Amino acid sequence: MITKGVVVRVPAKVNLQLSVGPLGADGFHDVVSVFQAISIFDDVTVRYGKDGTGITLSVSGSTAHGVPTDSSNLAYKAAQLMIDRYDAFPDLEIHLKKEIPVAGGMAGGSADAAGVIVGIDALCDLSLSRDEMERIATELGSDVPFSIAGGIAVGLGRGDQLTPALARGTYHWVVAMSGSGLSTPAVYKECDRLREGREISNPRTSDSLLQALRAADARGVGEFLTNDLQAAACSLRPALRLVLDVGEEYGALGGIVSGSGPTVVFLVEDEERALDLTVALSASGVVSSVLRAYGPVHGARVVETL
Ligand code: ATP
Repeated sequence: MITKGVVVRVPAKVNLQLSVGPLGADGFHDVVSVFQAISIFDDVTVRYGKDGTGITLSVSGSTAHGVPTDSSNLAYKAAQLMIDRYDAFPDLEIHLKKEIPVAGGMAGGSADAAGVIVGIDALCDLSLSRDEMERIATELGSDVPFSIAGGIAVGLGRGDQLTPALARGTYHWVVAMSGSGLSTPAVYKECDRLREGREISNPRTSDSLLQALRAADARGVGEFLTNDLQAAACSLRPALRLVLDVGEEYGALGGIVSGSGPTVVFLVEDEERALDLTVALSASGVVSSVLRAYGPVHGARVVETL
């Protein structure tokens, strides 16, 4: 049977550590990022389209609202790059079934781009290695390689030079979403503004966090969660402080703004605690919706052949 299409499942990420270095002359910051892939997924379907139709994109799912379907979508850019670089089949129908919050600091767009790379590789029989796919992913954005890799990894440079982290255990998360997103560049800009006049050192991986991950010590991981963008996200969206307070009050092991926010994630001891906190957050009126998730989970992978 000839394969007509593939479905690739791609995870959201949380940053257990996001340490941001000084603003470089090129306008970017070096970061140290410890990523964990968690069980909130987009499904990316890639099919052969009709001759001459080029790349077409459609979107559905609970977080589809406002996601562009033109060439500005990162999934579209990924398809174009794969076609140009590997002479892949040029007429492709891509469908994104979105569950990852949009502009929530959980790398939703990056996940979709990763799904397209893995999907085109499988559909067009390119036989690329995971390393090659992660390399091309770097050209699309700093979070895209991790969306391919999944698991738990340390990212250096712009977050894209990845090394898998030795880690054990399963971690339970409660994910609190806000009604509207925050722009990543705007949050970095606010971070620079808040730090003006201060000496900022180069970021370093947190040994305490990595040690807790190796020991499957959820309490330790909760204690050492850190995000240098949190103050900036809270400055732009003061209500995030109230969300963080609810988590603390209900005994979360740790709570943190995810990446550039505004999604806030809480690490909890077990599923029962996750349920309690979900109910408390929903009742608090300070978040738009709440999800439960666990991690680490796999990176982008084909789950169905059509
Ligand atoms: P990151 O955590 O990598 O900083 P994010 O999760 O905060 O990213 P995304 O969900 O990737 O943010 O979306 C940021 C913006 O990118 C959206 O406002 C949207 O206009 C645009 N965008 C482009 N492609 C996509 C996509 N496939 N899914 C969602 N948004 C996309």
